[in-house]
Amino acid sequence: MTNSLRRLPAVHRLLESPRLKSALERWGHTALLEACRKALDDARRLIEAGESPSTATLEEAVLAEVQAAEADAYTGVINGTGVLLHTNLGRAPMPTTLPQSLRGYLALEYDVQAGRRGQRLAPLREKIARVCGAESAVMVNNNAASLLLILAALTRGREVIVSRSQLIEIGGSFRLPAVMEAAGCSLVEVGCTNRTHLRDYSEAITENTAAVMVAHQSNFRIVGFTSNPTSTELATLAHDNGLPLIIDQGSGCLYDLRRWGLPHEETITELLGAGADIICFSGDKLLGGPQAGIIVGTKAWVEPLGAHPLYRALRPDKTALVLMDHTLRAHEADRLGEIPLYLMLETSIDTLKRRAARIGRRLRTQGVPARGRSTRSTLGGGTTPDETMPGYGLEISGGQALLDALRKQTPPIIGRIEEDRVVLDLRTVFPEQDGVLIEGILAASVRAES
Ligand SMILES: *Cc1c(COP(=O)(O)O)cnc(C)c1O
Repeated sequence: MTNSLRRLPAVHRLLESPRLKSALERWGHTALLEACRKALDDARRLIEAGESPSTATLEEAVLAEVQAAEADAYTGVINGTGVLLHTNLGRAPMPTTLPQSLRGYLALEYDVQAGRRGQRLAPLREKIARVCGAESAVMVNNNAASLLLILAALTRGREVIVSRSQLIEIGGSFRLPAVMEAAGCSLVEVGCTNRTHLRDYSEAITENTAAVMVAHQSNFRIVGFTSNPTSTELATLAHDNGLPLIIDQGSGCLYDLRRWGLPHEETITELLGAGADIICFSGDKLLGGPQAGIIVGTKAWVEPLGAHPLYRALRPDKTALVLMDHTLRAHEADRLGEIPLYLMLETSIDTLKRRAARIGRRLRTQGVPARGRSTRSTLGGGTTPDETMPGYGLEISGGQALLDALRKQTPPIIGRIEEDRVVLDLRTVFPEQDGVLIEGILAASVRAES
């Protein structure tokens, strides 16, 4: 063992080895030195464990190390899961062509017409309001930030009434009672888990009440013997007491979801029509845009939020503003096909079947047993829980080994297992990814078998 240890090259010898010459030019002295040290450390550990790594292995380890350090921290993936708003894969997919203003400088806080300083949110505020049919709007970093801003600005030190059926936890780290506490208001719980009546709310109103609040149940559903007052009833009660009705709508639903075979949910416009004063939701769920929190409602309640001191800490960055503008323009012009989420929602089963047939044929000629099959796609992202829509994709025999090999491809292909077969839902795969998908499946099949 000591012999083998002694045979390991000194770090500068390894660094200067001919095979690493081009790597040295590409990644520079410091990065390569670091990688050599790490490779030698690993080799020492291997020798101590009774193995005998060769010089070639050492050089390969150095190359793998510098390449890994250069890899994207966030890898683009092929989403074969059929979950359109996949929380772990970034919720709403990003546009495949990025707007010009994401390159170089942009007039972020500059009024080009007047040639003087402008307001960051001003160009977008009216557009958000128009798309949602609201009087006024504000955009922040995410929907948790929307709630924090609304509650801190309008209800601090006072009481907010919420039904016990709506004390939600979303994605582990978002809990409504905790956000309320952080915002400095006190939560007044009313009703029961399955039923809350209008009188429960009215009996809880005191001179210290700041608002009546509704939170969308999002990722779960209470079924059976249930009831909750309608939004109109709650708005009337709130207004009769001089209070605002705040609704955390969550998903940002602008359209009747029955259009895509999903159950209807009250849309933002319908909630505003029912009398809601302040509504907030995420930008990267059904709106199909970047991560953001959108707040819409009446001028009197919503306008001051943009001037609150917390706003500066919660405001969105320029990339989110540009991407949101891009998304809103498509909604406004009814060009939903320009928003990747809606492009996927609107793809017909026939189109998916044709793609599956083409991909299946290519795979079978290379000896991979793949065939088309019906799937159930889901919206995901905490929207419409338990609801699915028809999808179509591929079924490949191979089980867990193939699923793992697919995930290790570049780009990674994420699928799921059903009855010991790998299933890839094509609804969430961009058609221009079909070629890369085929290559990835072929390579993964070879890998899974060896
Ligand atoms: C998704 C969701 C949130 C959290 O939104 P983020 O944008 O992830 O901060 C809060 N409330 C409801 C009802 C939601 O559906």
